[in-house]
Amino acid sequence: MTEKLKSCPFCNETQVTLTRWSKGVAVWEVFCLNCKASTGAKFHENEAVEHWNTRADMHTELVEALEAAMEGVHNFHRDYVHYEGGKVDKELNRIWNELNGAALKATKEG
Ligand SMILES: [Zn+2]
Repeated sequence: MTEKLKSCPFCNETQVTLTRWSKGVAVWEVFCLNCKASTGAKFHENEAVEHWNTRADMHTELVEALEAAMEGVHNFHRDYVHYEGGKVDKELNRIWNELNGAALKATKEG
């Protein structure tokens, strides 16, 4: 029994499929029927499924980090008159680190 495939992290399509094909040896690949996002060829069925679902989770984390960063920017604009110089730098650094961390995570995997 295969783990259920999550919807596509790029286009949210639920029509995602696991295919077995031959590249000299048998390989497995998960891809999205809408935008063709793919895990690439994996030697094991579970590896392809896990890779796909991990990337879907990372996408969720990225969206959450971006939302948190957007809220930070929003709060900063709302409150900036109350900020002193050091606090401004600190808040902008926090937002930057959050965005940067999320971007690294999102691009780490093909
Ligand atoms: Zn897709």
